[in-house]
Amino acid sequence: MEANTFSRWLDDVSSADSGAVGGKSANLGELATLDVPVLPGFTTTATAYEYYIEQTGIQEAIDSELAGLDVEDVADLQQRGERIRSLISDAEMPAELASAMVDRYDALAAQLEIDDPEVAVRSSATAEDLPDASFAGQQETFLNVAGTTELLESLKYCFASLFTDRAIVYRETNDFDHLDVKLACTVQKMGRADLASSGVLFTLDPDTGFENVVVIEAAYGFGEPVVQGVVDPDRYVVFKPTNGIVEKELGGKTQRMVRRNGGTKLESVPDEDQDEFALSDDRIRELATYATRIEDHFDTPQDIEWLVDGDLDELFVVQARPETVHGAAEGNVIRTYSMTESADEILDGIAIGNAVASGAVRVLQDHREMDRVEDGDILVTEMTDPDWVPVMKKASAIVTDRGGKTSHAAIVSRELGVPAIVRTGNATATLSNGDPVTVDCSTDIGRVYESELEYEVREEVVDDLPETDTEVKLILGDPARAFALANLPVDGVGLAREEFIVTSHVGYHPLELLERGEEERFVDALQTGIAKIGAAFYPDDVLFRLSDFKTDEYRNLEGGWKYEPEEDNPMIGWRGASRYYDEAFREAFRLECEALRRVREDVGLDNVTVMVPFCRTPEEGERVLELMAEYGLPPEEMDVYVMAELPSNIVLADRFSELFDGFSIGSNDLTQLTLGVDRNSEQLAPLFDEADDSVTRSISSLIETAHSHDRPVGICGDAPSTIPEYVEFLLEEDIDSISVSPDVAIETLLTVAEFEDRDS
Ligand code: PEP
Ligand code: MG
Repeated sequence: MEANTFSRWLDDVSSADSGAVGGKSANLGELATLDVPVLPGFTTTATAYEYYIEQTGIQEAIDSELAGLDVEDVADLQQRGERIRSLISDAEMPAELASAMVDRYDALAAQLEIDDPEVAVRSSATAEDLPDASFAGQQETFLNVAGTTELLESLKYCFASLFTDRAIVYRETNDFDHLDVKLACTVQKMGRADLASSGVLFTLDPDTGFENVVVIEAAYGFGEPVVQGVVDPDRYVVFKPTNGIVEKELGGKTQRMVRRNGGTKLESVPDEDQDEFALSDDRIRELATYATRIEDHFDTPQDIEWLVDGDLDELFVVQARPETVHGAAEGNVIRTYSMTESADEILDGIAIGNAVASGAVRVLQDHREMDRVEDGDILVTEMTDPDWVPVMKKASAIVTDRGGKTSHAAIVSRELGVPAIVRTGNATATLSNGDPVTVDCSTDIGRVYESELEYEVREEVVDDLPETDTEVKLILGDPARAFALANLPVDGVGLAREEFIVTSHVGYHPLELLERGEEERFVDALQTGIAKIGAAFYPDDVLFRLSDFKTDEYRNLEGGWKYEPEEDNPMIGWRGASRYYDEAFREAFRLECEALRRVREDVGLDNVTVMVPFCRTPEEGERVLELMAEYGLPPEEMDVYVMAELPSNIVLADRFSELFDGFSIGSNDLTQLTLGVDRNSEQLAPLFDEADDSVTRSISSLIETAHSHDRPVGICGDAPSTIPEYVEFLLEEDIDSISVSPDVAIETLLTVAEFEDRDS
């Protein structure tokens, strides 16, 4: 008899052989055809099963047990099932079949160079038209099978498992002929993940559906506790187009599942191993390569189980199946809110965002009281600063006593897409903890109403968004939202504020970490944050802005008081470019540059370019550019923009044009400094007007000068997100790109398209 009649090597079969070797073996073979490593092993064939049934002469007895079966009669079904399984497992393996199995096993042992290797024996049914899910778990799996005697026994039990009670009922009720289904067995070396690691992966981000990444979960030992959520695994995110590692998150990994007495047990992981990643960077990238290859081959996202075999010190894919459950990414939807119920108004102020939200009031004096805030509460506070971002993320709406349209609270709320009312004057005194309220920002004036009122949300899905000449980009600093926003049809990101990443992902002053010898912590967290935003919008440009904390904000970072002077006017103090070349800060600037260099070179995200904020003079610009070159970011290798946010940037636009590749207008600071109005001043708020002639003329002049020097101009201040006519003005002035907060991106795109249509 031909060697392949009863069994075949797994890497000798493919999807086309599922009739001959069953779905499971065929699928593993298919993976092997892609050069994806599968644990070495073989499969028995359907012919082997037929031969077994035929030669043992038990077919008739099986038939008579099945004749007249009534699946409703559970007791009878159980007895008949039991008898059929015994008929199969008690029979003697025909000699020719047995010797073929032994030969194959011995050949596997020789190949592995292990005596009596332990194998797993699994069922691989040939009934292709049975949905896999309903068949899963119906047949047996035998683990840690060693030696030929045990192997032959397991094969027989595997054959018998074609007649579990559930399988019988399934075939009866779905009108499948019992004889049409055959059982092959997949026999593979036991994956020794207990000596190494294992886990799962998805070929997209399961939370947002973002498709350009592979998300891997990894822990030590066998994978079961990871799947069950008992062990907190590491998490790695790999960017498919460059195979660069975007994020590595260390999991708890306090326990691992290992073998004991033929079974398994959970044991503690030594502390030093808990603090290490379960996979090396090379392994992570290798795994991501296989994942992408499998996904490309099957042309659909995959959910994959994998392990590292500690015996062989090699990575293996154990199973790949289509991924079905994932969150929907935010698409092209315009939401319009309107109130449908009324109640007494308690307070009003400046409305930020166009939404409505309701919930229980939570008044906080200090961001450290964050634990008191439940998801969905209405956060009420005097004012926010970067330390408040984690609390703000939990809130469904934000109400502050102070602050203006470009205050921290306003900027962050806009970016988070939660409604906020700023400058209410006395919200912290007027609103009481626990009170149900509604925050209405559906009109220009933000209003807080008593009780949770009904409101309507209209969603308009905009298909076929037009391409525009003037680019529309996002203002986005929160890496956590990047993947969810990746599907917005924008031309990248025009402002990614470093401050967002540092406050939410580092928390420490960079000089403090340098003093402690923990600079990697800073570089690593910053690199991850930038890379996530860069990956989300690749290959569109992401303009990352170097640090622009003010001294009062830096002081609030852990250890910050040691390094930051107390200034009377932090808004016009030691901020932006002036810090970078200062001896007292230069080392921290080096870390920023290093994070960016790694994103571009190590992760391969060369769509991330850079912007220098608050650059008072061209001489400052020169010094910063020189330092960047020294710290691994030579200006000739990438675009470096300067913010146009000081009157000096406008007046000397010709000279800044010689140094920088483009401008991005910071209308917030430009208005503050042109009109001499403190952005945060409550009294002067009515005078803070980005549409004032002095500001708009400055913008017009800048665009003209910059264009005459072939330099593009964008805008990343808040004016176009908050003043609809502003977009129109900028288009008339021939601006090159407009950055807006995510909630108004689609509307802005439509406005731009309409303008361009009219204009052409
Ligand atoms: C601006 O000044 O307009 C700007 C975008 O920068 P920031 O608001 O961060 O100062
Ligand atoms: Mg600014």
